[in-house]
Amino acid sequence: MPIYFRITFNTVKRFGSYSIMWFLTILFMYAVVLHKFSNAYTSQTVTKVYNGETEVMIEYQEGSPGSKIILAAPHGGSFKGDFPERDFGCMSNGQCIWSHSCGAKDPNCDTSTYTDRYTMEITTGLADELETLYSGVRPHVILSHIHRSKLDPNREEDEATFGNAEITSYYNAFHSFIDTASTSVGTGCFFDIHGHTHPEAMVELGYKVIKSRLNDKNAILGYTSIKTLGNDINANGRDWTGLLNGTIGLGYFLTEQLKLSTEATVQGTTVVPSVDVPSPGTALYFSGGYDVKIHGSRYGGDVDGIQIESPSPVRNAIQGPEYIKRLAKAIKQFMDENY
Ligand SMILES: [Zn+2]
Repeated sequence: MPIYFRITFNTVKRFGSYSIMWFLTILFMYAVVLHKFSNAYTSQTVTKVYNGETEVMIEYQEGSPGSKIILAAPHGGSFKGDFPERDFGCMSNGQCIWSHSCGAKDPNCDTSTYTDRYTMEITTGLADELETLYSGVRPHVILSHIHRSKLDPNREEDEATFGNAEITSYYNAFHSFIDTASTSVGTGCFFDIHGHTHPEAMVELGYKVIKSRLNDKNAILGYTSIKTLGNDINANGRDWTGLLNGTIGLGYFLTEQLKLSTEATVQGTTVVPSVDVPSPGTALYFSGGYDVKIHGSRYGGDVDGIQIESPSPVRNAIQGPEYIKRLAKAIKQFMDENY
């Protein structure tokens, strides 16, 4: 008999039924603890020692085998360290030169340096919710822990890094982790998680279709970040634009989920594009950035890309958890419908 069983048997015999009760109680507590921490995953990290502390710069939480979902948070990081500030580039022949040593800085070469607040929590919260909804199959998660004033992974390399060698190594790590995740999922969807402060306060879904094309209903599938999925939809005799503002799109599923919320702010939030709000009209709108452009299917592959820009009213400690639950359910409905 293995030692473990022999000890257990002797322990029970020696301390009697009272101890059996305690043994079972402790076993139950252990099971509860195990359940509570069931969001288990393997992480790959790129770290830096700063002021004697090991700090994580870029993190890849590996998804479960079989997951078709990749989540990334490029703008949720807070680490600043002593990296140089990405403030302004220089103008040369009508073009911005993104470098710390380009000479006279030009205010026309301004770059965004604000954090998308609460997007780190939304991204990891979504991963936890989706893991539960998919009975333990966890999505892949890629996080930049570096503040956007130092690195912006959602830009072309020169504007992202200003040519700083160390920052460039973190930029490359962020994107190569997404590539690794894409190889793992094979066919699926990459969601780039952002936050905006536009006054219209809608959830803005970005497919690399600019506002005027959404307004004019003349989006071109070949330029989108969901090209592969759109081609599959068309090949099945349906219209791919249903992914933008029809009943097979994330906009539709998210709208219907938000309506079900008991939180007034979450319930009152609309989504663009969707069935209810097919195009932005005059509202401010982000159509999708560098991440969904290169990690979506525009240039090939079977992983599509969607940028999710959440408005500030649902990105806080009060509405956040409810919003995350609704968004996770919508993503699952969208994935179940289309993949
Ligand atoms: Zn952002």
